[in-house]
Amino acid sequence: MQVVLNPEHLSQADYDVAERLRSEWCVQVTGTVRKRPEGSENPALATGDVEVMAESVTALNQSLTPPFYITDDVHADESLRLRYRYLDLRRPAMQENLRLRHQVVKYIRDYLDGHGFLEIETPILIKSTPEGARDFLVPSRMQPGSFYALPQSPQQLKQLLMVSGVERYFQIARCFRDEDLRADRQPEFTQLDLEMSFVNESDVLTLIEGLYAGIVRELTPKFKVKTPFPYLTYADAMARYGSDKPDLRYGLEMADVSDLAAETEFRVFHGILDRGGIIKAMAVPGQGGLSGSDMRRMEEVAKEFGAGGMSHVRLTGEGPAGTLAEEDALLSPGLRMPIEWVIRLAERAGANRGDLIILMAGSPKLANQWLASMRSYLAERLELADPHTLAFAFVTDFPMFEWDDDAHRWDSTHHPFTAPASGHEEMLDGDDLANIPSRAYDLVCNGSELASGSIRIHQRELQEKIFGILGYTPEQVQERFGHILEAFDYGAPPHGGIAPGIDRLVAILAGADSLREVIAFPKTQSGSDLLFGAPAAVDFSQLKDLGIRTVE
Ligand code: ASP
Repeated sequence: MQVVLNPEHLSQADYDVAERLRSEWCVQVTGTVRKRPEGSENPALATGDVEVMAESVTALNQSLTPPFYITDDVHADESLRLRYRYLDLRRPAMQENLRLRHQVVKYIRDYLDGHGFLEIETPILIKSTPEGARDFLVPSRMQPGSFYALPQSPQQLKQLLMVSGVERYFQIARCFRDEDLRADRQPEFTQLDLEMSFVNESDVLTLIEGLYAGIVRELTPKFKVKTPFPYLTYADAMARYGSDKPDLRYGLEMADVSDLAAETEFRVFHGILDRGGIIKAMAVPGQGGLSGSDMRRMEEVAKEFGAGGMSHVRLTGEGPAGTLAEEDALLSPGLRMPIEWVIRLAERAGANRGDLIILMAGSPKLANQWLASMRSYLAERLELADPHTLAFAFVTDFPMFEWDDDAHRWDSTHHPFTAPASGHEEMLDGDDLANIPSRAYDLVCNGSELASGSIRIHQRELQEKIFGILGYTPEQVQERFGHILEAFDYGAPPHGGIAPGIDRLVAILAGADSLREVIAFPKTQSGSDLLFGAPAAVDFSQLKDLGIRTVE
């Protein structure tokens, strides 16, 4: 609010104070609100039509000169912003992010309350709860040599609540995972943790669809959101988009064309096929937007990925692929094939005349990874993704297990408490473990995973079998999971749930490019809190109490 300091309306002492005021001081002003004189209104401000004629001014506190300007177009280094986070948070955009986050959490609470859920807190000091990451440990003073672990999620606790007859539980839960912080992760983050008894996949996902669509429509209506959210199986997502979190705002679908590639005499293709690889094709509409340097960049990236290689076919002219003539197809060197073959390729890839077809050869994993990253590169380059659309989708039927090459053992794709798809339990005794579908599902949006969950195992025998496949000895199972297996023995109901990440959702809704923009006091990439200077050394006496000696 603009304040007018007029010596005629102020005591001399107050006017002296007013003259000394500097930016960021904390002041108290008493006065009369009036319309601004004609022509001096500021339409950019919510209070731009009025001003206060000050009658008294008190300086409640002075301020040092801030290390950066407190405005939205701040160009301060992020570490400086985090070091002085309390000033950074004064910026209007950050205030807006805090407000949006509050509104999202409030919406979640109200929505779930309306659906009969109870919000229940679970402990932070707990025993290790494996979700695939390393634990943060807290040493016990009263039992030297023993440790608590901070929960990677309240997974087992929420399942125990189902055994307690809670039926519908949720919590805005802090989760802790000691991971090397890739790209945009935080060592502590917030999930909406949720669990329900007597449900199947569609009960959980319908509830979640209503929640997300409601949040967007109510709180950020500038985004378009389409309901019902489409469902894709994991296999379908990988085949069509090379990723289990595809951005569905645009097409750029891909197709396996290994059989067509086998018909060529191109040596690279045969080398890859002989090693169990695949060749996938992706059609890029209207190649006009792509320059020679784009193509070179794509080839370089393909090489970096260590995939077998990239080739391409350019189609000229206009109209459906079926009308192609010999001179309309420009094939990469090494690919000499008759026009009938090109037409079959174009039809399989969904390409029309005027399009470009990119062919990628490699192991299924590499070919998919490369084409998926190329999909996002091209979408950005050709501006295919509407920034005002939120394309939500559910990905289902994830595989139960994936082979960990480094550790030489099977890992759960989701986590060990996930149930196998019904009718596939017998496969757990066979050797085709990689192909057992599970009852796990994800919610994805614009290329990000927003939530993961599953229908759980609720019977001891099946749960023990899964632990066995994951390589736990019966003693380890008893030691680590004895409590939950015992609980299953007391009439545990069938149950399932999901855990949407709140930080990422708010970041997407706020249009923020990092989770740090929507967390009041975040950590840096190296896990540091620059404001408090954590992590930090502690007093020797504290370590002594805990019976701990540091070795390096
Ligand atoms: N606890 C799981 C996770 O944090 C989600 C779930 O299955 O509910 O990923």
